[in-house]
Amino acid sequence: MTKDVPVGDSTRLIHTAAEESARLPARSVGPAIQRGSTVLMDRAADLYAHGKITYGRDGLAAHHALIAGLKDLEHAEHVELYGSGLGAVTGAMLSVLKTGDEVLVVDGAYKPTRRFCDNFLKNYGVSVRYFPSDASPDEVLALITERTRLIALESPASLSFEMMDVGAVAAGARERGVLTLMDNTWAAGLYFRPLDHGVDLSVQALTKYVGGHADVFLGSAATRNPVIARKLAQASLNLGHSVGPEEAYLALRGLRTLPARLAAHGANGLAVAKWLMGRPEVARVRHPALPHDPGHALWKRDFSGACGLFAFELAPPAGLAETLAFLDALTLFGLGFSWGGYESLALYCDPQVKEARTARPWTAAGPLIRLHVGLEDPADLIADLEAGFAAIKR
Ligand SMILES: *Cc1c(COP(=O)(O)O)cnc(C)c1O
Repeated sequence: MTKDVPVGDSTRLIHTAAEESARLPARSVGPAIQRGSTVLMDRAADLYAHGKITYGRDGLAAHHALIAGLKDLEHAEHVELYGSGLGAVTGAMLSVLKTGDEVLVVDGAYKPTRRFCDNFLKNYGVSVRYFPSDASPDEVLALITERTRLIALESPASLSFEMMDVGAVAAGARERGVLTLMDNTWAAGLYFRPLDHGVDLSVQALTKYVGGHADVFLGSAATRNPVIARKLAQASLNLGHSVGPEEAYLALRGLRTLPARLAAHGANGLAVAKWLMGRPEVARVRHPALPHDPGHALWKRDFSGACGLFAFELAPPAGLAETLAFLDALTLFGLGFSWGGYESLALYCDPQVKEARTARPWTAAGPLIRLHVGLEDPADLIADLEAGFAAIKR
């Protein structure tokens, strides 16, 4: 309001700061955290101009900087943002499914993904069938019927760590006119690039390694296919998906250090996993980067690294009481869900894997414990786990 001095207090309080806030006082390394629902147009004709950002829900400075970074990470042509990783899974699925379709879902999929399929998609006339987490491509492709529209993959599964030949499933599905979606949160978009392996939709919870500090919820879906890109954008427009600028900024900040952090998580995780293999209290370590793991050959062929997330089975006769005693004795490993932050976490998985395996019942030597190995010193983490085992010594 430099033209004239505004007359009333209310007018002045609203307008005097407007010019200053429209102008960046200095250029920082990161993008501006622009807060805005309304986007101001220079001219009236722009209000309905095609291809212009006309509303904050379309994303502002930090969102578009993050999208550019994620397109680069995913080798994608289009990236859509969602308020959480689960929002990305459901948003991507809803964008390509319609009543009458069928989805084939890997048995080891993230449990809330299964809940969405079972409780929500079914209400809209979309049917769901599950296939074993280590099914061969032929076994998966043999399930395809006229109605199959989408195959949803997760490799490795994020509690039980079975691997699948994603590229072969994607190639076979494409030949049959079926789309593929992969939840790629474990590889964080970096150690495996689903779109390079023929997958149509690459989804990840940015909440995990991209955010990297356990302090933000965000998800993304990426594609190279222009038809799917349009469907993703249309679904977001119709469903009203939008994310805040702080969240977008934090994910972008995490993206800058993702390779350095992920390498450290991976090395620390392997050090801990190898130590666990030598323990008498452990029946089996489930980690695809270990040579004995059934998924190792696929991991070695397709992945360029491992993150810090894996699981192990306690040796019999350990049961629930020993599992709880072990976890309660840990002091450096926090007890909690989610992962991908700088800190180590542990949880027991039996309540999830026993309920959420329907293609093939869960069988394991003993209770399943999942570890997220953080950026602490591995020797200290090992000492912490040693204290856990001491607590269950008979
Ligand atoms: C955490 C997680 C999600 C969901 O992410 P949120 O941001 O917590 O909603 C999806 N898939 C996998 C594999 C996850 O681990």
